[in-house]
Amino acid sequence: MPLSIEAIPAFETNYIWALHNGRDCVLVDPGSSAEPLDYLQRNGLTLCALLLTHHHYDHIGGVDDILAKHPVPTWGPVDPRIPQVNRPVSEGDQALVPELGLALDVLETPGHTTTHIVFHDDEILLAGDTLFSIGCGRLFEGTPAQMQASLDKLADLPGKIRLYCAHEYTQDNCRFALQVEPDNPELQARSAKVKKLRATDQITLPPTLAEERAANPFLRTREASVIEAANRRQPGTGHDPAAVFGVIRGWKDQG
Ligand SMILES: [Zn+2]
Repeated sequence: MPLSIEAIPAFETNYIWALHNGRDCVLVDPGSSAEPLDYLQRNGLTLCALLLTHHHYDHIGGVDDILAKHPVPTWGPVDPRIPQVNRPVSEGDQALVPELGLALDVLETPGHTTTHIVFHDDEILLAGDTLFSIGCGRLFEGTPAQMQASLDKLADLPGKIRLYCAHEYTQDNCRFALQVEPDNPELQARSAKVKKLRATDQITLPPTLAEERAANPFLRTREASVIEAANRRQPGTGHDPAAVFGVIRGWKDQG
């Protein structure tokens, strides 16, 4: 059976991603344990690994509970705030899940937190809270320059890769992005599509990275339209991508 990737909803907006082949399963960022444990049981799946992107509670809150029942390899960043990680990885390393034939490259993406990492291969990007669909994570611990560099790494990946991020924020993100780029036809089309999906409570993920590059303002800080919007918002910003990013991110934070 080929790899299936399913979203297990948790809390208000989180998705815990389950990657499985009908027998073995990997969970990504289990912020709670009840939903994923129930999911494994209902689908007759055996947990074979956990993948963790960063230390926030809504991403690791379920780990202790899950590991108590299923002691599996736990891949994550080098960070004392995640003591459950027993396969620490950094940029250039791979997370290996032989049961699913997965060898995922690790990229370090500081910005949302200082030690945030993402996992990817040629098909999927498990982005945690670094890149959202039509948005990006808040800067809790990093600088705009760090986040811009992290997003550049993701924007450079092949466009056919699908983005599996950790929150359903797309509709809100579209509302904001349309303030930055009201005349972007790709964004207008995405926004309409997302609105339809959310009207019936459907998931808006996973978009391709090519779709994100065309519509996500945080991946478009070198585009004239986004540079202009940043300079309208904050005159004198200039065109340095990190400065443009900082203004757009601050604009979104202020609502
Ligand atoms: Zn987070």
